[in-house]
Amino acid sequence: METSILVVLFIFGAIFGSFFNVVIYRLPKKESIVHGSSHCPKCMEPIKPYDLIPILSYLFLKGKCRHCKEPISWRYPLIEFITAISFVLVYIRYGYTYFTLIGILLASILIIVTMIDIDTMEIYDRFQIMILTLAFGMLLISPLPLLDHLIGFFVISVPFYLIAYLTGGIGGGDIKLIAVAGLLLGFKATLVAFFIGSILGGSVAIYLLVTKQKERKSLIAFGPYLCVGIYLAYLYGNDLWNWYLNLFA
Ligand SMILES: [Zn+2]
Repeated sequence: METSILVVLFIFGAIFGSFFNVVIYRLPKKESIVHGSSHCPKCMEPIKPYDLIPILSYLFLKGKCRHCKEPISWRYPLIEFITAISFVLVYIRYGYTYFTLIGILLASILIIVTMIDIDTMEIYDRFQIMILTLAFGMLLISPLPLLDHLIGFFVISVPFYLIAYLTGGIGGGDIKLIAVAGLLLGFKATLVAFFIGSILGGSVAIYLLVTKQKERKSLIAFGPYLCVGIYLAYLYGNDLWNWYLNLFA
């Protein structure tokens, strides 16, 4: 595998991550994503182009506004870095194929969904529709039978719907997310996604209970953990499934 492709993908990912930061910040405020330059939220000074280099600018500026020294959130370089790494990992898994293209688009949507869900406890329908569109693309190239994908749509979303109906403990956004992502993944990887999300979410919930921080509700939202699960399941869902079954063989 050529290292140069991975480096280029990392840089592309960091640049996309920088754009996702704008989307994550502005979309819930209903601000335009394409118009208006970035500015410091404290001193309102426009940020110079040379201070907008993903990841690096944050390090050069030591995490502070060049003008007023207001701390810049570490979230910005973190999201740039996570986006970059997520692109690279997709390529390492799928190489020069359409699966990589779908994986990169899926990772992009999941990163935005995760951060907006953490901030607002909401998953916007427009992102569900984007994942649904990707799922239709996946159906064209998937090696799995169509039935696998159709079962994926229902296998977790229906139990979620029943739990939501009975207890109200699961948000509508999570139900739609695991339905459209399930269609994309097929049912085995969907179960893996749910399993990873539950382990992650459950671990954090227990940690918060033990350390008595359970008022930090944003950390208990299931959506972000589900997104991590969906991403990992897209990469290794069927491998993990087979590995798990082999434990009992
Ligand atoms: Zn400032």
